[in-house]
Amino acid sequence: MEKLRIAIQKSGRLQEKTTALLRECGLAFTNGPNRLKADARNFPAELLYLRDDDIPQYVEDGVADIGIVGENVFIEKNKDIKIKEKLDFAKCRLSIAVPKSVEYSGTEYLNGKKIATSYPFIVNQFLEKNNVKAEIHEISGSVEIAPGIGLADAICDIVSTGSTLLGNGLKEVETVILSEAILVAHNDLSTAKQQILDKLIFRIKAVNTAKNNKYLLLNSPNHAIEAITNVLPGMRSPTVTPLKEEGWSSLHSVVNEDDFWDKIDQLKELGAQGILVIPIEKMIL
Ligand code: ATP
Ligand code: ZN
Repeated sequence: MEKLRIAIQKSGRLQEKTTALLRECGLAFTNGPNRLKADARNFPAELLYLRDDDIPQYVEDGVADIGIVGENVFIEKNKDIKIKEKLDFAKCRLSIAVPKSVEYSGTEYLNGKKIATSYPFIVNQFLEKNNVKAEIHEISGSVEIAPGIGLADAICDIVSTGSTLLGNGLKEVETVILSEAILVAHNDLSTAKQQILDKLIFRIKAVNTAKNNKYLLLNSPNHAIEAITNVLPGMRSPTVTPLKEEGWSSLHSVVNEDDFWDKIDQLKELGAQGILVIPIEKMIL
């Protein structure tokens, strides 16, 4: 039987959430620091543990069928592979930063400057788009110290909170790209492998949709059911069951994480009581 070969980061910032996601999708496998690959015991897949930078190439070559990698690395490597699903973790941005003392006026400031980065392809695209001519100095790690030691005038690097930049006397001045973990796939998979991938993506959607939603239970005076239902559309419409106490009902529904607190405020105003919020493990629409 054919197996889907899945390339994932061996160790680093993507590792933990990637393996957690695959496990939530029902794949059981062992991972250890010395492993190069592992078989999923109950799903036709095999995991390859790689450096994240190598994943796009392996997927293009077909050594791996699919991979989980940061969008930043996907764009930088510019390989002929497809994005199949955005995964909603490892969110960060690639930004240009300059020393705090600089009076930054706009991208024209970068003309004639030296920019240190591990992302020469992306920076080059950004400079061309903004009609700026600057020198790109490629370095592979500790980019943020480059201005301090006189190696560059500016940097382009990953930012999540900005505290590393501040610690090195830098400030963020341009966002170049936004990134999150993505699932990429080889261009022409066999029919059998495509079917396994479809199954995996179906499960990923169920897991991630569930993460973005909560199951909500509340007690409502019967006269408020109509108004409360309008606030709570649910998957179809809420479940309403009478309480033993005359004039009251229990309502069950699903709410989206995004407008969760707004909904709670509205429900309280409409007379809801005993509101319970419960995480959902899987959600199939
Ligand atoms: P490798 O040894 O595999 O080459 P690495 O050191 O290049 O690893 P990591 O630092 O582990 O890479 O980051 C992997 C990916 O995680 C990045 O390419 C980016 O997509 C994402 N990432 C990096 N830093 C952050 C952050 N601070 N917050 C969220 N996501 C991040
Ligand atoms: Zn890397």
